[in-house]
Amino acid sequence: MSARKPLIAGNWKMFGRRADLAEMTALAERIGPASAAIDVLICPTAPYIAAAAQTARITPILVGAQDCSPVADDAARTGEVSAAMLAETGAGYVIVGHSERRQFHGESNELVRKKAEAAMAAGLIPIVCVGETRAERDAGRATAVVAAQVAESVPDKGSNLVVAYEPVWAIGGDRIPTVPEIEEIHSVVRRTLAERFGAAADGIRILYGGSVSPKNATEVFSAAGVDGALVGRASLKAADFAGIILAHPAAVR
Ligand code: PEP
Repeated sequence: MSARKPLIAGNWKMFGRRADLAEMTALAERIGPASAAIDVLICPTAPYIAAAAQTARITPILVGAQDCSPVADDAARTGEVSAAMLAETGAGYVIVGHSERRQFHGESNELVRKKAEAAMAAGLIPIVCVGETRAERDAGRATAVVAAQVAESVPDKGSNLVVAYEPVWAIGGDRIPTVPEIEEIHSVVRRTLAERFGAAADGIRILYGGSVSPKNATEVFSAAGVDGALVGRASLKAADFAGIILAHPAAVR
């Protein structure tokens, strides 16, 4: 097994209200000692990060954000939230470049890199999302697209980051890539990171994301090079998310 500590992160997207934070304590109860061997992270929407961080104090669960401003300093940017503010509010991680941000907000690799840089400057660990569309995969361009996204979205400044491979066509549906397809892209991501960071790239965790569920988690975690998962829908309910976490081979039972 890899020396990298697995990370299983829940992206609550624009779901999950204050009352749903109770799922965090329910999750902690369900996973028990597994949280010692696996980093378990919940990323609620920004208004609930502070309350989630309060809840997290009595659980081993980590808290993150779903996005941050590319502007590092306090600035006139109405509606934006800086990485420093997220850190002050209790986040330790931040997702950047999720395909929904790339799709609905036109985020480019360059912007994603700036967000990741701002996150690192504030002491947050960015989870940089990459992944090909169905059309790109069908055209045989999946590896080239993902390698270019990694090259252009991942900052040069340090390797304290996470990369999430999330094929756009697998998000929010019921299809996931085959194990060999996941392994192929993960090895491309690792190679691209190694070219940039040398031996330090060994510490970077690469997650798989896209329709991970309790039913397919064992298969996903069996893929070589997968250091954990980024989970959308199935992270909202403690029972489902615990089913995924406990399927990881590192989970202590
Ligand atoms: C996601 O949006 O990051 C994601 C993986 O969603 P889902 O698990 O619902 O496909």
